[in-house]
Amino acid sequence: MTGLEDAVVRPGPLLGQQIGTVLGATTGARLAKLDLHTVGELLRHYPRRYARLGEMTDLASLTPKEHATVMARVAQATVRTTRTGGAMMNVEITDGRSTLGLVFFAKHKGALRFHEGRLKPGVEGLFSGEVGTDKLNGRPQLAHPSYRLFGIDVEDEAAAVEEAKRPIPLYPASAQVPTEQIQKAVGAIFPLLTPADVPDPLPAELLTRRKLPELLGALRRLHQPENDEEIRSAQERLKFEEAFVLQAELARRRSRIAREGAVARPPRDGGIRAAFDERLPFTLTEGQLRVGAELSAELAGERPMQRLLQGEVGSGKTVVALRAMLQVVDAGGQAALLAPTEVLAAQHERTLRRMLGELAEAGMLGGADDATRVTLLTGSQSTAVRRQALAEAASGAAGIVVGTHALLSEHVQFADLGLVVVDEQHRFGVEQRDLLRAKARTTPHLLVMTATPIPRTVAMTVFGDLETSILDQVPAGRAEVVTHVVPAGNDRWMQRTWQRVREEVDKGGRAYVVCARIDPDAKDGADGADGAELVPDEGPAKRPLRAVMEVAEQLAASPELGGLPVGVLHGRMTPEEKERALADFADGTVPVLVSTTVVEVGVDVPDATVMVVLDADRFGVSQLHQLRGRIGRGTRPGVCLLVADAFPGSPADTRLRSLAETRDGFQLAAVDLELRREGDVLGAAQSGGATSLRLLRVTRDADVIEEARIEARSVVRDDPDLDRHPDLRTAIDLLLDGEREEYLDRT
Ligand code: ADP
Ligand code: MG
Repeated sequence: MTGLEDAVVRPGPLLGQQIGTVLGATTGARLAKLDLHTVGELLRHYPRRYARLGEMTDLASLTPKEHATVMARVAQATVRTTRTGGAMMNVEITDGRSTLGLVFFAKHKGALRFHEGRLKPGVEGLFSGEVGTDKLNGRPQLAHPSYRLFGIDVEDEAAAVEEAKRPIPLYPASAQVPTEQIQKAVGAIFPLLTPADVPDPLPAELLTRRKLPELLGALRRLHQPENDEEIRSAQERLKFEEAFVLQAELARRRSRIAREGAVARPPRDGGIRAAFDERLPFTLTEGQLRVGAELSAELAGERPMQRLLQGEVGSGKTVVALRAMLQVVDAGGQAALLAPTEVLAAQHERTLRRMLGELAEAGMLGGADDATRVTLLTGSQSTAVRRQALAEAASGAAGIVVGTHALLSEHVQFADLGLVVVDEQHRFGVEQRDLLRAKARTTPHLLVMTATPIPRTVAMTVFGDLETSILDQVPAGRAEVVTHVVPAGNDRWMQRTWQRVREEVDKGGRAYVVCARIDPDAKDGADGADGAELVPDEGPAKRPLRAVMEVAEQLAASPELGGLPVGVLHGRMTPEEKERALADFADGTVPVLVSTTVVEVGVDVPDATVMVVLDADRFGVSQLHQLRGRIGRGTRPGVCLLVADAFPGSPADTRLRSLAETRDGFQLAAVDLELRREGDVLGAAQSGGATSLRLLRVTRDADVIEEARIEARSVVRDDPDLDRHPDLRTAIDLLLDGEREEYLDRT
């Protein structure tokens, strides 16, 4: 029994060992092609679904190029000589509804005898291969599939009957490594495993209380289920584990930072913040005051603030953040404001200066006594400007430093960084937050703001280490925005759309026209897409996406616009060109701006009243909501025209209609969650963590996430460093770096 001997001498848990060492080099090399290297990785390669004998796979749904495993019965098989003198065997298999062709080629008929003897009409089995096309009739077919026949490849009859009753795991596989091989390898591993090999990240007490199977049992049930109930209970437990490990990491992070201690930045009477409040041209909304008080109290404490501010578009998050920053300046510290784009960083700097007026003119003639300075730091500044900015940040002369990713660079130093504000979007991951945090001697307070509301489960998954504040109202007197869906193919409506643009401009408004990409010849999703997070095309053959350059040219010449100046804005312009384009647009010199989604977040031109989005069916809900947030920011009513080709009842149609129905970002976030696929929801939002989510779906598993979070927080509360939960800690480490080598080093 080599397996047992191995078990005695092997160095650590079997999970960390190379598959090749345990199952032989051939199997090891083969599975490596699927990026499965360790036994642990193999066990965590979960079946995608299960097949059942007698319940045939739908052959009609095969798509070319996919690697498919189908369960079917042989209908007929013929062998013949080809024109070139070789031999060819054609087999037709059926699932009772549709048929599929299999084809085998050989030098001579004799070489096909093996298959001929096995693939007799009536036998059933699993057939795997890459779906190709039959050159003669254009139908899908499998060339040289691998197959396993029921009752033939399983030797003893009782076992065959037994097997026939069991769900058959179907793994994510490839042409070279079909699902049967994975199943075989997994089958060879299980007899070698003891519970000690499979440390369980879930505390035993929790398993008992929640009646969940332990890890080894769950994995066995998942890979070798006796029945559907076993699959269900295994998935439930593994799903909970995923949520729990992630939430434990978030809780641990939260608790670690809470223990780090921060410099208290209490508010000061008669300081710059008070002076600013006096200058404010409007009254703060109830929400702004409430959140403001929350932030103020936390900044005054010696625990680092770790807060997420979720806000409706246009709810006035900037001023809330600014007041928090000023409190820190009043207390002698500095604040950094991190924006996702240069356009936005520059706009913030302008807004802050404008709002602060003489309060931002420290050291200058006419500057107020209490004044500070607002400094901009971006990647594209000239060396001289940049050097000046770096000096102001490092000396502390700048109370507020606004910037892009450039702020994260190692050259940037602060005299006394007390608060980091990350504006708009979860595009800054945990690592970036850490980079900024490292620039302060003591942990700075942190405020992260989202561009639009995000669903609760997403917030818990992506920002689970932060406390949440919500700003759900927009300031009173904010203008109405009506939204219409315009059918792209209807010339009369399109004409009307451009006339509407003209009318709005004549009344003193401005119009954005958003396109999905920059150049007509750029491919979807290429860099020409410029930040548009496009939804996959749902329609049948569609016309190509409209592009900024082409649309701008057409509009400039269009009779409907009657010669109105038309500008462009996109990611390939230099920062100066972008600035220029936005400034011309803001002051009305160029009242029509054709752009990519670079205008998506935060751009604030109060006179803008029209937003036309072309190919709107290709944008996601929150991106459209965010785009629409660019209008109706002042007191002028706005109109948003979503130009699209969407079949009634299609997901695109549902998205567009939801947008037309409501401007409530929280409601739209819920719709979005229902419609979007997992990857899109977490997307770049997630750094590290959720990429390893296998079974958990933030779109469906809200309850699981919520309960796991409560359990995880309670474990971390009692054992902040997880000293008493080493297996949980190992699971977290694995989750965080995911690197096989590092895992091996540790075991
Ligand atoms: P967002 O929350 O989308 O980032 P902003 O902070 O850009 O919104 O604010 C949108 C606009 O509303 C800005 O022009 C801002 O000056 C204005 N604003 C903010 N708060 C108020 C308020 N309480 N009353 C009136 N206007 C406000
Ligand atoms: Mg904003």
